[in-house]
Amino acid sequence: MPSGHFGKFGGRFVPEMLIPALEELEVAYESSKKDPEFKKEFLDLLKNFCGRPTPLVFAKNLTEKLGGAKIYLKNEGLNHTGAHKITHCIGQGLLAKRMGKKRIIAETGAGQHGLACATVAAKFGMECVVYMGETDIARQRPNVFWMEQLGAKVVPVEYGNKTLKDAVNAALKDWIENVSDSYYLLGSVVGPHPYPTMTRDFQKIVGEEIQNQLKGAEKKLPDYVVACVGGGSNAMGAFNNFLPLKQVRLIGVEAGGRGTKKGDNAVRFKGGSVGVVEGFKSYFLQDEDGQVMNTHSVSAGLDYAGIGPELAFLKEEGRIEFESVTDKEALDAFKTLASFEGIIPALESAHAMAYALKLAPKLSKKEVIVVNLSGRGDKDLFIVAEAFKDKNFYSFLKDFLKNE
Ligand SMILES: *Cc1c(COP(=O)(O)O)cnc(C)c1O
Repeated sequence: MPSGHFGKFGGRFVPEMLIPALEELEVAYESSKKDPEFKKEFLDLLKNFCGRPTPLVFAKNLTEKLGGAKIYLKNEGLNHTGAHKITHCIGQGLLAKRMGKKRIIAETGAGQHGLACATVAAKFGMECVVYMGETDIARQRPNVFWMEQLGAKVVPVEYGNKTLKDAVNAALKDWIENVSDSYYLLGSVVGPHPYPTMTRDFQKIVGEEIQNQLKGAEKKLPDYVVACVGGGSNAMGAFNNFLPLKQVRLIGVEAGGRGTKKGDNAVRFKGGSVGVVEGFKSYFLQDEDGQVMNTHSVSAGLDYAGIGPELAFLKEEGRIEFESVTDKEALDAFKTLASFEGIIPALESAHAMAYALKLAPKLSKKEVIVVNLSGRGDKDLFIVAEAFKDKNFYSFLKDFLKNE
């Protein structure tokens, strides 16, 4: 298989003028892999800046309540900045430094990726420009505020739908114009080669930690690993180490949203088709003309029309199974996890949890499910308060404005 291809998926479908930049990146990445100093610095930052390894905790109360398989939770929410994303952003930030770049370019939809980039840029003393659609800026003000506090410049994108897709185009335009001093930091296992491979390689430490930690706790491999899938970086991170171990079943959970109608969810494998978008070949939710469709999910991180090419390949190979859960099921799982285990998950991670809650009672007490909780729920405060129609929270906001 030529590098950057996963079966028929992946590849590098970009304008001619970006090829040299991607080749430069690939060469730098390949050489960094062979450099023990690079690895040492990466692992040191993961330990001392990120907070790795994150805990793998036995969900005793839920396990007893459900009466089936043992449930373990990989608490990625305890990473610095609250989710798994910081891990691959540190890896790419180090690479940018190695390549002598002075400036990080990123695009963001919900703002979580922008926040992780702004954090890494501050840590490495680099300039950071984050492109964000005007509509998204209006919806995600808290993240914009934090990015600015971290010293990043958030540039509103005022054309198209004014959302993520337009921000991607603006970021690519900037990269083409400033390729000599700028690094384009992509946020998931998507995009043209080498991004999907590189991002997976930075994230694969999660599955390695899971395997070691579970060996200590249960002296066995997990029977199931369950992770939510937006672009797929937390899922590939949790799954990668188990790919050759066929007895471990790997389950990706997509956003079922409001229901099965087109545009109401982000279930790429049921509603989508194979296409080439944003530089790579994979499954996308698209209309007959190949235009990317709008998607919906209560969780911003899963609200994405595409999926990483390696996940598409592993789905076709039958190695990863895919399920979906609805907004409602995810919100219920959010509440269940918070009240039974004292962990407030990100709404993305609540999707993985929701599926595990359905799976556990069907299994024997000897079996073990590991749920990858990709992030913590702080960022979802406003969405959860709205979903649960918390009147007291709204009166708090009104009073807050009165005191302005
Ligand atoms: C961004 C995000 C996701 C989705 O991205 P993947 O690349 O699919 O992992 C999932 N969970 C959290 C907490 C996120 O912030």
